[in-house]
Amino acid sequence: MAFSLTAPPTMMATCHCSRCRKVGASTFVFVEAETFHWISGQDAVARFKAEPPSRYDRCFCRHCGTALGEPGGGASFPINAQCLDDDPQVRARFHEFVVEKPDWYQICDDAVQFAAHPVKSAE
Ligand SMILES: [Zn+2]
Repeated sequence: MAFSLTAPPTMMATCHCSRCRKVGASTFVFVEAETFHWISGQDAVARFKAEPPSRYDRCFCRHCGTALGEPGGGASFPINAQCLDDDPQVRARFHEFVVEKPDWYQICDDAVQFAAHPVKSAE
């Protein structure tokens, strides 16, 4: 599976919730739909449907196992920052769900931290 972006992502953040951690996609970037273009393998993308309160489906490549985030999920959608080959030219704006962060993981940047989702929790 391969894709290209014709413009840098609009933002990057890290989610420490157990759901994101377990798919290895906790650092994500948001991309505008019109900048995301499949090159190959779109038909190999499998999707786990999100169940409320989770908002985003989880997609991965059936051939290589790469966690993708949710390509195609609206006008702007999150994709896994780890699956980008090149520097996306954005840096983490915040950490969310830090109360679910495992003790062994240490946040080593100055990005703002939220206990839960940024719009649902105070800093
Ligand atoms: Zn999460």
